[in-house]
Amino acid sequence: MRSPVARYTVVRPKGLAHALGAMHDSLADGRLVPLAGGTDVFVYLNAGTPPGTRYLDLGGLRELRGIRAGARSVTLGARTTFREIRDSELLRRRLPSLAAAAAEVGAWQIQNRATIAGNIANASPAGDSLPVLLAHDAIVHVRSVRGPRAVAFADLYTGYRALALEPDELIVAVEIPSAPAGARAFFRKVGTRRAQSISKVVFAGLLGRGRDGRVNHVRLAFGSVAPVTIRAREAEAALLGAAPSAAAAAAARDGVARDLAPIDDIRSSREYRLAVAANVLGQFLASAHASYTAGRAEVQQG
Ligand SMILES: Cc1cc2nc3c(=O)[nH]c(=O)nc-3n(C[C@H](O)[C@H](O)[C@H](O)COP(=O)(O)OP(=O)(O)OC[C@H]3O[C@@H](n4cnc5c(N)ncnc54)[C@H](O)[C@@H]3O)c2cc1C
Repeated sequence: MRSPVARYTVVRPKGLAHALGAMHDSLADGRLVPLAGGTDVFVYLNAGTPPGTRYLDLGGLRELRGIRAGARSVTLGARTTFREIRDSELLRRRLPSLAAAAAEVGAWQIQNRATIAGNIANASPAGDSLPVLLAHDAIVHVRSVRGPRAVAFADLYTGYRALALEPDELIVAVEIPSAPAGARAFFRKVGTRRAQSISKVVFAGLLGRGRDGRVNHVRLAFGSVAPVTIRAREAEAALLGAAPSAAAAAAARDGVARDLAPIDDIRSSREYRLAVAANVLGQFLASAHASYTAGRAEVQQG
């Protein structure tokens, strides 16, 4: 049954300091639930399973906005929407996988409201931006009344939908380090249909080669195939230090089968997900190889 909205209160903070104070104070009598674009929160409200009765509206906090380019990283304010990511010339150039992922999130109406921090904090294993953040060694910047803290994205999820955040901490920004010079990036989402579907498998890859042609940097990050977004470490190990070859690609595909732990659910079977994950990896390796051979800087995003 839908949740009657009149039962809920919304706090509208005047600024970040006020928001952090309100989050902290709320722990004594019922935690405030941060509310950004609302595209996840309102699904729960609509289903009659609200995550709380008191909400902290982040909508007016200018401190959480903006995309800033540094020499060695790009930082996105927590409230950056997928529309802003998709449309950003800077991100399309420096982080094409993130721009590609943003363009695959829901429909335009969702992209207009859904934020990067909401995707992170919602912690769905199917969140489309999450493999990109993992592949790029992103850092999540959080704040509380106690001050700022930086959490490696790789350490953020401690289990299914469980985050290594204190209950009064807010995500304020996500910092994405630049990939090693010349590395090829790739993003691919596979769902039931071409657009507006939840991922059955979502993948982000990053691969760099040295002057000798051997792989000297590799990240293979998958979503929807385990309780949390994960790196395929055995597949990475099969590629690191290897020259491009059919044998190395086959070893990486074999590694994926050991790395991933997909489940059977209403969206897909375990076997299908494993086969698709291996195929998507194969597509990335072939695209990266073609890109290096042709001397192009980018690989075609799936
Ligand atoms: C029709 C539809 C289609 C969708 N399609 C996709 C899709 O294709 N791919 C995909 O990945 N997702 C999809 N989603 C899910 C959703 O749009 C994303 O997860 C989105 O990024 C959530 O962002 P939001 O700003 O709307 O978060 P909200 O709903 O406002 O919040 C989500 C969670 O994050 C917490 N939160 C938000 N901001 C902060 C912060 N700064 N600090 C701490 N906690 C915070 C909230 O408390 C809540 O727990 C879809 C949703 C709908 C309704």
